[in-house]
Amino acid sequence: MVLNQQELRNLYDELVADIFTKPDQLKSIIENQLAKREGFHQYSLRNIMLCDAQLYQQHHETSDILCSYRGFQKKGIQVLRGEKGLGILFPVFYEEEKPDGTVESKIRFGRSVVFDISQTDCNDKMRDSYVITKRSDIELEEIYDYFSNIIGKKYPIKVSSKITTLGYTDGSSIWISKHLDTKDAIPVLFHEYTHAENDFGSERAKTDSGFREWRAEISSWLLCHALSIDNGESSAYVFNHNPDITKAESAKRAKSVINFVQRTLDQMKFQDFLYE
Ligand SMILES: [Zn+2]
Repeated sequence: MVLNQQELRNLYDELVADIFTKPDQLKSIIENQLAKREGFHQYSLRNIMLCDAQLYQQHHETSDILCSYRGFQKKGIQVLRGEKGLGILFPVFYEEEKPDGTVESKIRFGRSVVFDISQTDCNDKMRDSYVITKRSDIELEEIYDYFSNIIGKKYPIKVSSKITTLGYTDGSSIWISKHLDTKDAIPVLFHEYTHAENDFGSERAKTDSGFREWRAEISSWLLCHALSIDNGESSAYVFNHNPDITKAESAKRAKSVINFVQRTLDQMKFQDFLYE
């Protein structure tokens, strides 16, 4: 049986709590997803993590290309007999009228089912034709322009001539070193954007600088991943971070990062940008 909504939510809470303690697992999931899947929907980080865990329980394999049964069928790919679907969650927004007549916006989670390409009759050669692993220099320029435009509306982006600092922010503007090429400027832009968005409000007093750096690095790494851009430097930093904190605190921190990244992905319309 495919997991139900509540089971999926519980599983996600477990997975998120382990980001600090089992970072290699997240790393292998994400790095496997570091590629454009031509013609396939890019699922949210939450759903990628969920599918990966379910597929692992069944086949001890990492997820690769995810798609609905019908979606595969449209491409002439058949899900193999006996394969069990992978549950994903999608938010449903609705309004509820309260006894006093006011209307409250609410959210609940619906469940949908997808399969991994390894559960289908698709052969390796065909599978490889869907995957493009490298961004061209022109694409990188376009990506940088696109995101520096959006981010620059809120935090004007300035050029810094400092050699030792790749970038910095004071919470109002963002500086990017002029010594960086575009490929390296993109991760720095996301890093500083994460600082600007998270680290200058009243919350700042409640966080330590180690966490703030980790959050900026892992957010940058995840955002780059969503754009199929390699960001190995952040990855090295992210996965050597091992603070002495409780499991509950770890879960709270990890969830705040994933929520921030997902919100950024939605707000900046990454998906439209990728698949327009
Ligand atoms: Zn930083």
